[in-house]
Amino acid sequence: MELMDLVAPQKYNLTSEIDRFDSDRIALLWESEDGEKKTVTYHELIQKGKRFANVLNKLGIKKGDKIMTIVPRIIDAYVIYMGALRAGVAVIPGSEMLRSGDISFRINQGEAKAIITFKDYTEQVDAIQEDMPSLQYKISVAGETNGWMSMDQLMSESSDSFTTVDTNKDDMAFLTYTSGTSGTPKGVVHTHAWAYAHLRIAPKRWLNIKEGDTVWATAGPGWQKWIWSPFLSVLGKGVTGLVYCGRFHPEKQLQLLQDYKVNVLCCTPTEYRLMSKVDHLGKYDLSHLHTACSAGEALNRGVIDIFKDTFDIQLKDGYGQTESTLLIGTLVGRDIRIGSMGQPILDEFITIIDEDGHPVPEGVVGNIAVRRDFPALFKTYYQQPDRYKEVVIGDYFLTGDRASRDKDNYFWFQGRRDDVIISSGYTIGPTEVEDALLKHESVKDCAVVASPDAIRGNIVKAFVVLKEGYAPDASRVPELQKFVKKQTAPYKYPRAIEFVSELPKTVSGKIMRSTLRDLEIRRASEKKN
Ligand code: ATP
Ligand code: MG
Repeated sequence: MELMDLVAPQKYNLTSEIDRFDSDRIALLWESEDGEKKTVTYHELIQKGKRFANVLNKLGIKKGDKIMTIVPRIIDAYVIYMGALRAGVAVIPGSEMLRSGDISFRINQGEAKAIITFKDYTEQVDAIQEDMPSLQYKISVAGETNGWMSMDQLMSESSDSFTTVDTNKDDMAFLTYTSGTSGTPKGVVHTHAWAYAHLRIAPKRWLNIKEGDTVWATAGPGWQKWIWSPFLSVLGKGVTGLVYCGRFHPEKQLQLLQDYKVNVLCCTPTEYRLMSKVDHLGKYDLSHLHTACSAGEALNRGVIDIFKDTFDIQLKDGYGQTESTLLIGTLVGRDIRIGSMGQPILDEFITIIDEDGHPVPEGVVGNIAVRRDFPALFKTYYQQPDRYKEVVIGDYFLTGDRASRDKDNYFWFQGRRDDVIISSGYTIGPTEVEDALLKHESVKDCAVVASPDAIRGNIVKAFVVLKEGYAPDASRVPELQKFVKKQTAPYKYPRAIEFVSELPKTVSGKIMRSTLRDLEIRRASEKKN
């Protein structure tokens, strides 16, 4: 793959990629938690999108404007994105887990003109209406709501003939907020050109999507990950997407993989972890699955082994950020190195640099960095130029993550820059210690952080959630410590272990180690005083 293959033409609207498949081909297979099913063709989806573009136009929402949408995994999610983008309107994705304050933060900072959300959610918005001066229109999906326009009604009054607005490749397509794992979320600006590059990277070189496949990417519409996979990688490749609108249950997920004969699965390490702990896992028939990808957090080694042993499926890690697309992954046709995230999508654009911005030699841990002219990299943090400056050094964007690479350019993840533990001069990544702990039969979940220590600077501390039936006795601490020492270099073992009933997580389910770190810092300073 060459750089030029990733550069969009000057005039480009990403919906043109989906229009190539305007036919009776099945675009989406949808199922709800209570078993209702729907099937939608590419033609139907495209026509509905055009209708929605007309709805926006009629309201005076036009090229250059932004709308926010918070919807669950429903077919209208696709319609809203396709309609807005076709009309040159940028979309701010919002997760269903957002609460009033999170919504007003995004609407105000992103200057959204309209919000489109579903019935159960309209109250959250009404409660903070006065705090959002830019918001002119409220549209409710599925059902009538007082004070809201109904999407169904607006759609029925609109035509399904629409000429795609002439967008420039550098026009904004998405304004997506980061997960907020380490501070307030940042508004990431992505253009149509970003989508062009993304479509030429992830579906083919990582997800391994082939003509005729059924693809299940489980991310919800509120995240960049939804834009990456269920939306662009599926519809931009003309294959069939499975959409399950229901809560996550590991047994249900396995059953759906079997029933729909899913060929490609893309989900989070947490989902794989929970599936791997299901009893009699081997009773599920996943013989149609040719590719299983994981992204968002580090993938635990033990989980990879279970999938390999049970289904002969090799889970493939992939690393990326809201700010980019897949940057590093187990690429199609390359060997897997267990424990490594894989290789960069374009060698010369993704590297590891030191604090001064110089590339580090093989084997040395440094910052994962992306050359700023990489076509699938974001433009800036919206309205936050200072935060953008913080993540730029020379020609590079700093991902905030640390890794080393080996002689074949496989990258080995160490952790977020802030999560790395420095104890007695040793640098320790939390993931490796967590991997070791998770292998113990009593451990359900865990997080490892630095805890201030007078002698060692920091010690490794583990917060552990035990499985049901395992009591947090004092004797468990040395047992777990001994267990970890057997698997990793002994200096990495957790000198302190605390049992907790749950871990702090972001709305997307990522462990917020920063919260635990801050807690340890606070406790240490209280002890001193
Ligand atoms: P914020 O930037 O607001 O703190 P965030 O970084 O969690 O939140 P995202 O953009 O959703 O927001 O997540 C990207 C981050 O997730 C990466 O920088 C990395 O830390 C982590 N990550 C993603 N994929 C992987 C992976 N395969 N292995 C390890 N970590 C990963
Ligand atoms: Mg981040």
